[in-house]
Amino acid sequence: MTPTAERTAAKTFLDEAAELLGPRGLTNDPDLMEPWLTDWRGRYTGRALALAAPACTREVAALVGLCARHGVPIVPQGGNSGMVGGATPDDTGTGVLLSLRRMDRVRELDAGAGQVVCEAGMILQSLHDIAAEKSLRFPLTLGGKGSATVGGLIATNAGGTQVLRHGTMRAQVLGIEAVLADGSVYDGLAALKKDNRGFDLKQLLIGSEGTLGIVTAATLRLLPAPTARVTVWAGLAGIVEARALLRAMERAMGDALEGFEVVPDHCLASVLAHLPDARAPLAERHAWNALIEFVATGTDEERLREKAEAALAKAMEDGLFDDAAIAANETQAESFWTLRDSISAAERALGPAMQHDISVPVRKMPEFILAAIPAIESEFPGTRGVAFGHLGDGNVHFHVLAPDGAVPGEWEESDGKRASARVYDLVTEWGGSISAEHGIGQVKVGELARLGDPVALAMMRAVKQALDPHSLLNPGKLVPAA
Ligand code: FAD
Repeated sequence: MTPTAERTAAKTFLDEAAELLGPRGLTNDPDLMEPWLTDWRGRYTGRALALAAPACTREVAALVGLCARHGVPIVPQGGNSGMVGGATPDDTGTGVLLSLRRMDRVRELDAGAGQVVCEAGMILQSLHDIAAEKSLRFPLTLGGKGSATVGGLIATNAGGTQVLRHGTMRAQVLGIEAVLADGSVYDGLAALKKDNRGFDLKQLLIGSEGTLGIVTAATLRLLPAPTARVTVWAGLAGIVEARALLRAMERAMGDALEGFEVVPDHCLASVLAHLPDARAPLAERHAWNALIEFVATGTDEERLREKAEAALAKAMEDGLFDDAAIAANETQAESFWTLRDSISAAERALGPAMQHDISVPVRKMPEFILAAIPAIESEFPGTRGVAFGHLGDGNVHFHVLAPDGAVPGEWEESDGKRASARVYDLVTEWGGSISAEHGIGQVKVGELARLGDPVALAMMRAVKQALDPHSLLNPGKLVPAA
């Protein structure tokens, strides 16, 4: 196509899209699009023909059908809090950025059944608030809860800090409605306990990062709100002790153990520098910290607290930690969680770094951290390895901080890239995953092609080809080219 013909085709497409969606549903004003064209980490900036924000599933379906007829690629976007550049378009400017944020209604909430049907643009924090009003809870949370949407959480199969007890998004989704690449609507919202009519299509869509369909709504499970919560900040000598403490808490507290996060002193220090009003929970600093949460339903706080205190006293006797503070009230518990949830933002402010969201078998994690950090630091002099996060799930965020004086933007493309490849080699050698919970997006698609199992990659490509033969849904993300 000549440039003139391309411009005419784009204009025709935009006119038709504007007619479908109306003035609130479509813009190509650069100022309105600008905030959504860069990813949360600021690593990628793309361009788009337009920003579409449909108001309902019918409008999404009409827009996707129009895109299919014109061969226009679509990048779905929720809260743009993703960590792998999955919601950022490429720099060709030929595609539509499809925001689901206007679709944020609850369609139905059945408190007795513990189920809510909500639209894809519902923000996680709002879902928590809506559930709490009915004395219920949605059992998944994460640091980006003020922006992350249900659609984004489903598309990335998000994890967070309660996976230890409740599982990832895969365990929370009971049904899905999605618009497929040709504009047809898959209605799988019915939450059936038993349904053996073939493939589990909702599970295929969960974690597909917008490459197989646009999630427009979901049926999610809700649990009774807890009646007791005890939050503990413990200071420890090392990561080996942290794993031993985790096991001791699992044995002593059973199902009540809901979260077990590890925070090295380096991360605590960066958060304290980043949040001027924050305070360290313990009088002295420790090489490692564990943030532990116990939650129970049907018991009172005092009983849970007594049980937790007894379990902690025994663990202290066994030398598993050095000091601990039990949150005196909800405000203090929240302040402990703010320290944990602010690590990503605090580390981002420190300067150039390569971030890796990795998992290895839980029992191997301490050994892995103890081997991988010195290996990376010696192979890439001046760098610093930092691991924090979901020890209970065998998943840590493994950051490699650039040497002092490294030039932002340059280091990531040179030594940073090589350090990342080395981290992923190590993870693969240890039988782990190069993406535990953030997904592949555009950041890791090359590494997935390099290290992924060829049979698994061939299956992924075959599914993609079957559902999106013209590769219009989030092209260049997740599924490596053959
Ligand atoms: P976006 O960033 O907008 O999109 C993410 C991906 O999903 C993209 O590929 C996009 O194309 C696709 N997508 C979005 N909406 C749809 C839809 N409706 N249909 C189809 N595809 C869609 N993640 C964790 O798993 N665990 C954590 O502990 C965690 N902590 C975080 C802490 C902070 C401070 C921040 C900022 C983020 C954190 N995240 C974490 C990452 C992020 O919040 C999750 O990946 C979240 O699921 C992204 O949701 P979103 O709505 O922002 O999606």
